[in-house]
Amino acid sequence: MGKGFFKVPEAINEPIKSYAPGTPERKAVLEAYKKMYNSSIDVPFYINGKDVTTGNTKPMSPPHDHKHIVGHYHLAEKTHVEQAITTALEARKSWSQLPWEQRAGIFLKAAELIAGPYRAKINAATMMAQSKTVHQAEIDSACEFIDFLRFNVQFMTEIYKDQPKSTSDAWNRVEYRPLEGFTYAVTPFNFTAIAGNLPSCMALMGNVVVWKPSDSQIFSAKIIMDVFKEAGVPDGVINVVFGDPKMITDTVLASPDFSGLHFTGSTFIFKELWKQIGTNIHTYKTYPRIVGETGGKDFIIAHKSAVPKQVATAISRGAFEFQGQKCSAASRAYIPSNIWEEVKNFVIEDVKSFKMGSPENLENFITAVIHEGSFDKLATYIDQAKTDSNAEIIVGGNYDKSKGYFIEPTVIVTTDPKYITMCDELFGPVITIFVYDAEKYTETLKLVNSTSDYALTGAILSTNRYAIEEATKELQDAAGNFYINDKPTGAVVGQQPFGGARASGTNDKAGSPQNLLRWVSPRLIKETFVTPTDYRYPFLG
Ligand code: NAD
Repeated sequence: MGKGFFKVPEAINEPIKSYAPGTPERKAVLEAYKKMYNSSIDVPFYINGKDVTTGNTKPMSPPHDHKHIVGHYHLAEKTHVEQAITTALEARKSWSQLPWEQRAGIFLKAAELIAGPYRAKINAATMMAQSKTVHQAEIDSACEFIDFLRFNVQFMTEIYKDQPKSTSDAWNRVEYRPLEGFTYAVTPFNFTAIAGNLPSCMALMGNVVVWKPSDSQIFSAKIIMDVFKEAGVPDGVINVVFGDPKMITDTVLASPDFSGLHFTGSTFIFKELWKQIGTNIHTYKTYPRIVGETGGKDFIIAHKSAVPKQVATAISRGAFEFQGQKCSAASRAYIPSNIWEEVKNFVIEDVKSFKMGSPENLENFITAVIHEGSFDKLATYIDQAKTDSNAEIIVGGNYDKSKGYFIEPTVIVTTDPKYITMCDELFGPVITIFVYDAEKYTETLKLVNSTSDYALTGAILSTNRYAIEEATKELQDAAGNFYINDKPTGAVVGQQPFGGARASGTNDKAGSPQNLLRWVSPRLIKETFVTPTDYRYPFLG
């Protein structure tokens, strides 16, 4: 910024549209959905701003209608990944030198494109690709993505403003340089906003990127690329490759210029990537930054003072929205015996009132899970609960994949607090509840803390401040995002920076300056005004 200390527009959270009957947004999104459903698109990958097709394709189908094909995407080969790296490094020469306000302008424009002309399209694509209800699509692919773009620009300027002290004879300046080399974004299926944020926040900070989206999200990833193109992201700055994740990753991580991994997905894959980076460490020119937000086994604990209807609502929304496929979704709950009967009746009533089916029918609260692998995994756990003597399914428990991957929202009650579904991440519409002796709150908090490898989100519901304080202390390390008297989902950019520790990730808090700081390498510049001309210090006499 050579010619002014520019202020960026103050970031505000994008208001959530209602999609109530009769609203223009409802009409627009349903029209966009129908158009997408009734056509078939060909999705190339992108290198140096060019569409690349190989003829080697895979079909894309909505999870709620898996026999229906809405398009095909092209698979990259190793040479394409190598080209993506070379291209990114070439683009870095100009991109890393571009004044920050020019980069900010691009991503602020992307936010406005999504808020306006692309809103119906990106939401409809997310309903199609990830089987989200229109509300879930709106809070993800429109609002959260817009928020990431706007707030990151503001956070970037806050970072740049953070400067060291100077004296009258020496001026100290810090430049927040992009990383030397190129960065790698690997994104999950479940949030279009995350898919857009991981590559774009690194690019915003001046980095060049190779981005590998999830195979199950390519239909909506295509709209992200369209937005980036229209917003003016220069050729080669964000390159996208689809295909065999192992081949792509092996090629990327073998490059001496690899300088950072921005990953969101499952714990096992992230640990494997970390291991591979460790094995290759001698080949890299710089120590790569590694940021990963991974799995969760998120909890709700209610105290005996909690209000049963509030506890039940936290479970119904926290566990089942988007079929429990949020990393923050409640999947284990600890309910005290004194309120259990009431909580149980409310939860059963809620779950029985949910409608399940295609997101095109806006009356549906539950849609399909992402793919057959997920469906089969969930069905196996449900079947096991049906036969295990220490588990009982109190509502749900059916599944059907004839048309779409539909799993009924399911509540398992177990007498064993270490029952398998109290510990494993299932990533679906299944919650397991352990009913504890209402007088054993302290012991139960210790149980919550020690049951799972994960530490992403958790919630305490209570009307007793001492109980809230005890949970806050005891569960200090059990969750990176801790909720008091609320469900453990629904983090908003700029309000609840998101991330967990233990096996849940590096806790670099997506949607915060902490995350952006990982994508820069500060350079301190000291300028001395009157340069010494004699080596002798006064003490030398
Ligand atoms: P996933 O781990 O299956 O896939 C994530 C990404 O890794 C995808 O792009 C995938 O293609 C890629 N991948 C898969 N195998 C790979 C390999 N061998 N080498 C390199 N890359 C590989 O996860 P998913 O099913 O897409 O997403 C769900 C998971 O993500 C859950 O565990 C969830 O908790 C987690 N998640 C966490 C957060 C968070 O903020 N903590 C947010 C969203 C999702």
